[in-house]
Amino acid sequence: MNFKKTDRDVTSDIKRLIGSELDTPSRLIEQLHAINDHFGCLPKPHMAALSQITARTEVEVIEVASFYHHFHIVDEVPNETQVTIRICNSTSCCMAGADELLTAVHELKIDHPNFVIETAPCIGRCEQAPVAVVQQFPIVAATAQKVWEAMEAEQYKHPSSRRTRESFSAAEVVEQCAGIVPINTVINPSWVGVTNYRINGGYRLLSSVRGGQITTDSLIEELESSALRGLGGAGFPAGRKWRVVNGFGGPRFIAVNLDEGEPGTFKDRTFLERDPHRFLEGLLIASEVIEAEHCYIYIRDEYHGCRQILIDAISELADEGTISEGFLEIRRGAGAYICGEESAMIESIEGKRGEPRHRPPYVAEVGLFGHPTLVHNFETLYWVRDIIERGAQWFGTYGRNGRKGLRSFSVSGRVKLPGVKVAPAGITISELIDEYCGGMADEQIFYGYMPGGASGGILPANLNAIPLDFDTLQPYGCFIGSAAVVVLSQADRARDAALNVMSFFEHESCGQCTPCRLGTQASVRLMQEPAWNNDALGDLKQVMADASICGLGQAAPNVISCVQKYFPDEVVDG
Ligand code: SF4
Repeated sequence: MNFKKTDRDVTSDIKRLIGSELDTPSRLIEQLHAINDHFGCLPKPHMAALSQITARTEVEVIEVASFYHHFHIVDEVPNETQVTIRICNSTSCCMAGADELLTAVHELKIDHPNFVIETAPCIGRCEQAPVAVVQQFPIVAATAQKVWEAMEAEQYKHPSSRRTRESFSAAEVVEQCAGIVPINTVINPSWVGVTNYRINGGYRLLSSVRGGQITTDSLIEELESSALRGLGGAGFPAGRKWRVVNGFGGPRFIAVNLDEGEPGTFKDRTFLERDPHRFLEGLLIASEVIEAEHCYIYIRDEYHGCRQILIDAISELADEGTISEGFLEIRRGAGAYICGEESAMIESIEGKRGEPRHRPPYVAEVGLFGHPTLVHNFETLYWVRDIIERGAQWFGTYGRNGRKGLRSFSVSGRVKLPGVKVAPAGITISELIDEYCGGMADEQIFYGYMPGGASGGILPANLNAIPLDFDTLQPYGCFIGSAAVVVLSQADRARDAALNVMSFFEHESCGQCTPCRLGTQASVRLMQEPAWNNDALGDLKQVMADASICGLGQAAPNVISCVQKYFPDEVVDG
């Protein structure tokens, strides 16, 4: 049974839930989150009221809401909050039993008036696979029993007495992120707060920049001569980016990409959970250099605990007067991988569907709200303080096989010790597994690896001596991207990993261009056949790579080529 709400009830719901957010048109996605968090879905009467109050058309609101996977549009107001259980079905979770987990959760037949079980693409906890999420609370090394306990937890049994997100302390959120724990258990926050960060020299560099002891020119030069490149995947030299954006007239903005949606990647989350101020100092230094008007931090919706840490860390800075209130603004994604693409992220921050823009112009010149915008991945900014304080040469002293710098590899799959491994750029997969991951997991024999998440292709075990870095993998039809390494064993098939990846791209294609939208669909169908039709797949690869607007469609065929080239025996009859 559903409640019938009057128009007046609905309007007062909107005003109560959204409040001052209503005044900022670009915060449409935040407004939708406020409704979705409350009901677990988006009732159409509320969307209609929201459109009226904010002087938008209803079509505009629905068009935006329907783009994002985490918004569930329903016809009527539910009488109980809808509870969503998401089971990650990306490669690492599937290797760890995600399919069996999904079946077991369905068999629980949970007695809740209004719950939904669905699969979800990577949620950034691959080292703790398999992973489920109940509402916004991740369950690591998930079992059906743990999911059951989460559903039984007080906050889900009695939605009316459920605590609001804001009422949780950062410590509780951190603990919840580690798995399901009693909701009232408080532990010490595990992240470095501003006091301890300052004790260890934090924010001294920022003070020197603000005080003029270090000039912006010298900062840019230092960064340019370091080996620091964009660590979100594209690898554009960080210092050059600062110089380019600085060359355009203001106002200028910064947009930080904390979407981290590439399957297999969890490094940004790992660093943020421990040391948020190191990133914030890098961000504030960058904002001084380009004289940013305002900084936006776009964080994926799945990082609920991290978002709270950021909120608290930013509050610490505002309380002590290091930043003015509102200078750093957090924007929350809503479940769309494509929003990791810089122009799509900018569209999303502006409150629109996250569809990549045609380029040129590039966002450095025409970015947020039409102004020059410095877009950086979280980790790129995380390294700024260390590189400037220790000198550009320090970063470059690391590296192997002729490569320079450090890389943060997110390693998951069949290794003994998965996790984030900060290792020299140019390390080989064999060295990474043996020296940093404790070797292969018990009884697992190395069979192949994905060197760069879903987009970066798949390589066989015999190509185990390639330096892992930007520019070194292209001759093999692969790339390192965000350094998400998934290790396969004799228990896996490359074709299964490739199909998993292509299904992911089919799900996440924004649909804007036909080669990507239909090419990924058709590829999935062909890749499900026992023997692959290589001619048909070849045509699809060509058109996707040549005619897609953005990197998703262009890189999607990489896994097909890799299987055809390195694992041909897997895709022939018999
Ligand atoms: Fe959208 Fe795919 Fe085209 Fe990128 S390539 S713009 S994801 S349809």
